Amino acid sequence: MKSPLSKWLGLVLLLAAGIAVGYLLGARTPDNAFAGDALARAEPAASAPATLPTDPAPSASLSDRAPVEVAAAEPLSGDETPTAEAATSPAGEPAAAPGVELSAAIKAHAGEKISRGSSSTRKIVLTFDDGPHPSRTPQVVRILKEAGIPANFFLVGEMVESYPEQAKLVADSGFELGTHSWDHPNLTRKNEAEVRRQIVETQDLVERTTGIRPVLFRPPGGNVDQTVRDICREENLVICMWSIDPRDWASGATGEKIRQKVVGDAHGGAIVCMHDTKAPTIDALPGMIADLKAAGYEFTTITQLIEEKAAEDAALAASGGVIPSGGDAAPQAEPLVISLEESGSY
Ligand SMILES: [Zn+2]
Repeated sequence: MKSPLSKWLGLVLLLAAGIAVGYLLGARTPDNAFAGDALARAEPAASAPATLPTDPAPSASLSDRAPVEVAAAEPLSGDETPTAEAATSPAGEPAAAPGVELSAAIKAHAGEKISRGSSSTRKIVLTFDDGPHPSRTPQVVRILKEAGIPANFFLVGEMVESYPEQAKLVADSGFELGTHSWDHPNLTRKNEAEVRRQIVETQDLVERTTGIRPVLFRPPGGNVDQTVRDICREENLVICMWSIDPRDWASGATGEKIRQKVVGDAHGGAIVCMHDTKAPTIDALPGMIADLKAAGYEFTTITQLIEEKAAEDAALAASGGVIPSGGDAAPQAEPLVISLEESGSY
């Protein structure tokens, strides 16, 4: 017996599957390449001068900085995702202009917080904040290159202004760039104009310096509010949190402690938050990388985690959102965007 309700339900399911397939195609655009290639590129504006924020930075050295502030609890933004727009992006469409080559998955998650990728694969991302540092960033780059692994760097605007060669080294080595504000304030204590300046001027400077306009943003201290999210959405930036925090910035941090924490907490889809401004982090890296490789982990980038999870979600949605076999062995759909509270650490 077929009720009108069940007919409608059938139509709705059919429509959802169609949208999901479109999304899957959109998420697999050809620019979905490794490391820096996955980022939107643009021609540097050769003569544009670097602009300084009008709210000057405190003169404290960056070595004293640390993400010590606990992010306030806030509602998730997953329900605000503009997925319909992403689903209509034709796959393989050539970029209309330099610098606007965004994948559907990145665009769909702009303004959202990402703390980890899918746990269904043994992939992990190392991320480095607060640089570029004049001497330590090149050391981190060398270690990563020797190990042959990708990573993400979240650059601070005033550090890029001071050390443009180190910023270029990171970019030219193929690592994935994100921005981390101009001078590392708690953005939730700034007005909208200042938040915009902190984000946009750093994006502009990184683009002028490296030729790459990042699509990833890490808020200093993990502090995010609705204003930060709105501006990140406008600027096509995904807000990158983390799922493993070895507290490499804390006093008393040592290479061995950092290594043990990361290796001990390692999980599929993990995003590890570290700092390329810290000496103990450099001590920790070679052993940490060796241990993770020995445990079967593959290193990747945040944009790759996002692309892969989007494809996985689309495949799940295309199957009706239910695993056919059912039963207790069926994997659960796992949210890509989770709150800081759920991510532990902070
Ligand atoms: Zn930081």
